[in-house]
Amino acid sequence: MFDKAWSTIRSWATSSRKMEIHGIRVTFRSTKERDLAEWEPILHKWLPRFEEVGWLDGLSAIHIDSSRIHGKRAVGQYQPLFSYISVSPRPYDREEVLIHEMVHHAHYENVGVFSEGTLLSSWDKRDQTAFMKEVSSYAGENPYESVAEFATGYILGEEYDDSIREKYDRLDGPDGLDTLREAEDL
Ligand SMILES: [Zn+2]
Repeated sequence: MFDKAWSTIRSWATSSRKMEIHGIRVTFRSTKERDLAEWEPILHKWLPRFEEVGWLDGLSAIHIDSSRIHGKRAVGQYQPLFSYISVSPRPYDREEVLIHEMVHHAHYENVGVFSEGTLLSSWDKRDQTAFMKEVSSYAGENPYESVAEFATGYILGEEYDDSIREKYDRLDGPDGLDTLREAEDL
């Protein structure tokens, strides 16, 4: 009973929006309208840059909507079957989350949806350790996270050993990192 009342009250307070930003369908759903105002400039800044390097190709939508993210602590997710990105209305760092999920999209465009076996065959224990040590502990999770974590850090100005870049290229990580990194430097 209480649950039902609570969800009714919540639904009154939830705002939903649909829009198009730089040619991409964007939906928004949150209890705080202000979250959209925080996200908009980030999307206006990054979508043209992603387009320049071809990363918007094949992207079906961006959903700013926690109900489209599985996993309790996750703040973003890429859905490769339907080629959409979901991000939390209020993650710890919007740019980082958006770039991370966009890398997943561009990477899947390169390697295909059912690519895990192939990727795992070119990602061994030593690669895993190197990504964990040089990039982040999450980068050691699987080859997809290696690619996403390295690219996100690199675009945002982190310095990494050349050997990590070689591993990234071997995993078919998307091109355009230097263009995106330079755009962020300006
Ligand atoms: Zn990820």
